[in-house]
Amino acid sequence: MSKTIYLDHAATTPLAPEVFEVMKPWMTQECWNPGGFYAGGFATKEALGRARETVAEILGCMPGEIIFTSGGSESDNLALRGVMNARPGEKHHMITSSIEHHAILHTAEDLARDGHEISILQVEKDGRVSLENLKKAIRENTKLVSIMMANNEIGTIQPIKEIAEFLQETGKKIFLHTDAVQGGVHLDCNVEKMGVDLLSLSGHKFYGPRGMGALFVKSGTPLRPQITGGGQEYNRRAGTENIAGIIGFAKALQLASEHRKSEAIRLSQLRDHAIERIQKEIKHVQLNGSHEHRLPNNINFSFWGVEGEGILLKLDERGICASTGSACTSADLDASHVILATGQGHGWAHGSIRFTLGKATTKELLDKAIDELKEIIAYLRSISPVPPNPPGSN
Ligand SMILES: *Cc1c(COP(=O)(O)O)cnc(C)c1O
Repeated sequence: MSKTIYLDHAATTPLAPEVFEVMKPWMTQECWNPGGFYAGGFATKEALGRARETVAEILGCMPGEIIFTSGGSESDNLALRGVMNARPGEKHHMITSSIEHHAILHTAEDLARDGHEISILQVEKDGRVSLENLKKAIRENTKLVSIMMANNEIGTIQPIKEIAEFLQETGKKIFLHTDAVQGGVHLDCNVEKMGVDLLSLSGHKFYGPRGMGALFVKSGTPLRPQITGGGQEYNRRAGTENIAGIIGFAKALQLASEHRKSEAIRLSQLRDHAIERIQKEIKHVQLNGSHEHRLPNNINFSFWGVEGEGILLKLDERGICASTGSACTSADLDASHVILATGQGHGWAHGSIRFTLGKATTKELLDKAIDELKEIIAYLRSISPVPPNPPGSN
């Protein structure tokens, strides 16, 4: 495994050793219930409070506006279901985009089954939501808009601040949620500057523990809990707190925010180098997503005439971990809903490969991966039944 080149950081990241260090005591000797009325309980409650303050400080909100959850999926579910179903029996309208994570899209579908109205915005070719389309989709009963901060497959960064400003101008109270699971690693997540009412984060996307997330909910936002029971998380998410997870989550977010600026510069240089090499050295390729509004660590290309799964298998044989479509769906052979939504035909969408860079990625490793990729594409094309040139090329 030591020779593995891991280029799938948008799927998950390894737990940082510094994070594991601060979690350890809370998994072993310090395992008290923060509700306990004894010294261990008080100390645990205090540590929980400190972790919440750390997260709140980074997001620029009040500690009471943070709900710890079991991950990005739960945060997204709580945001959508919590706001749309805040008052039993009421039906509302919600707007989201066609390139959201399935934690949003499938939840929106479920809300539609319950009688809510859902509008799904088509995106531009680069994956961006257009404000014009959003304006047209607003209805009298629109209650919630949920647009991701940055896309997990193609890395497109959405104009969240502009969307927030537009919603403000409507003069109606329309809540704005953003899935910042990918954005949170590389971009400034100040909720006030962005103007969002709800924001989802996931620990394992920034070298924190799996199964840990958070949802920012601006005070005054009506939210119906999805997990009821004890009064934990200000009565909005019941269950004995995962203290080690929460402490690890806060530490990982703190480290991510400390390194954010320098890593963004380093990774975007690597990204641009890789994009340039692939475009120069491999024929009939298409960069998926935006040049300008792109996460620093995302490279996503379609290769004409080859299947993404075939490329992945060959990369894996050579110790390179990459992805096609999104990790959650790579088991099924459907083309990526994100790449199809950007207007790519099936001939292109099936041959997409995503490299997502991270802490351990160096220029040397990335160059090695591209060298291997070149050979693999040439080989797969030599045995492919698909015509060697895409329509419209020569
Ligand atoms: C990974 C991811 C999720 C899901 O987060 P989990 O913590 O794995 O549940 C949600 N949204 C986006 C954009 C993601 O990349």
